[in-house]
Amino acid sequence: MRRVSIFGATGSIGQNTIDLIARDPDAYDVVALSGGANIAQLAQDARRLGADVAVTAFPEKLYDLRAALAGSGVEAAAGPVALVEAAARPADWVMSSIVGAAGLAPGLEALKQGATLALANKETLVCAGPLVLETAQAHGARLLPVDSEHSAVFQALVGEDMAALERIVITASGGAFRDWPLEDLETATAEQAARHPNWTMGQRITIDSASMFNKAMEVIETKEFFGIEPDRIEVIVHPESMVHALVGFRDGALMAHLGAPDMRHAIGYALHWPERRELPVARLDLAVLGQLNFRAPDEARYPALRLARHVMARGGLSGAVFNAAKERALDHFIAGRIGFLDMARLVEAVLDRFESDPGLIDARLTLDTVTQTDHLARQRVDEAMAKRAG
Ligand code: NAD
Ligand code: MG
Repeated sequence: MRRVSIFGATGSIGQNTIDLIARDPDAYDVVALSGGANIAQLAQDARRLGADVAVTAFPEKLYDLRAALAGSGVEAAAGPVALVEAAARPADWVMSSIVGAAGLAPGLEALKQGATLALANKETLVCAGPLVLETAQAHGARLLPVDSEHSAVFQALVGEDMAALERIVITASGGAFRDWPLEDLETATAEQAARHPNWTMGQRITIDSASMFNKAMEVIETKEFFGIEPDRIEVIVHPESMVHALVGFRDGALMAHLGAPDMRHAIGYALHWPERRELPVARLDLAVLGQLNFRAPDEARYPALRLARHVMARGGLSGAVFNAAKERALDHFIAGRIGFLDMARLVEAVLDRFESDPGLIDARLTLDTVTQTDHLARQRVDEAMAKRAG
């Protein structure tokens, strides 16, 4: 039996992971499940899967979780420290599917235990790529990509010589506002941004798809995961989301990975790797599909892509600044306090301010420096907003 833990079990990726695991219950021994405010879901899954421990991220929910687990034999725990403790429990395979920088600490802890970390939480690599890779290497742990584009690239590279790799092309649906007139974006609402044309995902990543902050983070994730120079990573808008990524080799060959937009493919690939097993995903019928479209991304529409290039060139803790400023700006957008295009403006202003202080940006990358930088960047988003208001 494989020991598995799922961090962010109640979310979109977490539930898809549980869907796969629950189809073959005898194959898995579930160690830890984590969630947030949805205690009923967390408790139900922990009972059903016979988890050793269930952890809610929120300390004030511990009482509810205990009550929901009464008599089940599943331990209840709460808070960020309990999350890291749960990640320290021995497991063979750990799904990292918390949303946001909160996923970094439990992911690092799982790597320290030598677990295979299936990484949906792209923030982990954006905030602390070099630290995460070093930690994995030091502890003989393996990282497997779950983001659909990165899983596609990973699969296209099987058996290939990395020295022959020329470029990586990741596709972007263009999000909810792909075809909106630019001038309407200023007044777009969170509710409108949260309607993705092709994928069903959590609210935050769906809005990040509309702004392409999601794609911007994925470009950085590509650089960190595959160790490729930024100028060899391309983004192409592909409205159908059937081609997830393409890999170009020095002989001119371009290998594409296609599949229905269903995250159970990438999750299942990471779960069964290096084997390929039968997965409950729709098969593509190319004749029905008829055609696939591609177009260059418009940088005026998607300033986040330009900011990602800047972050990759700058390095150091600028990824942690970028991610945290984006997360905070997104909080404000969801709450209706700022406009859609203000998110990129705020992130850029905060990046600029950090850059005038190289002592901060170039500090050594550790969990502590990343966490401190994360807090400071969020604070600076609030300060920039107060300044605009005043
Ligand atoms: P989601 O919002 O549906 O779920 C997020 C999970 O994280 C929930 O279990 C929630 O309880 C938990 N959580 C939220 N805040 C937390 C905190 N502060 N501390 C601890 N746990 C917390 O998100 P999702 O769409 O499943 O995305 C999860 C991650 O996977 C994100 O990093 C996202 O970018 C990435 N991802 C998602 C998809 C997708 O199809 N949904 C695809 C590729 C990558
Ligand atoms: Mg993706």
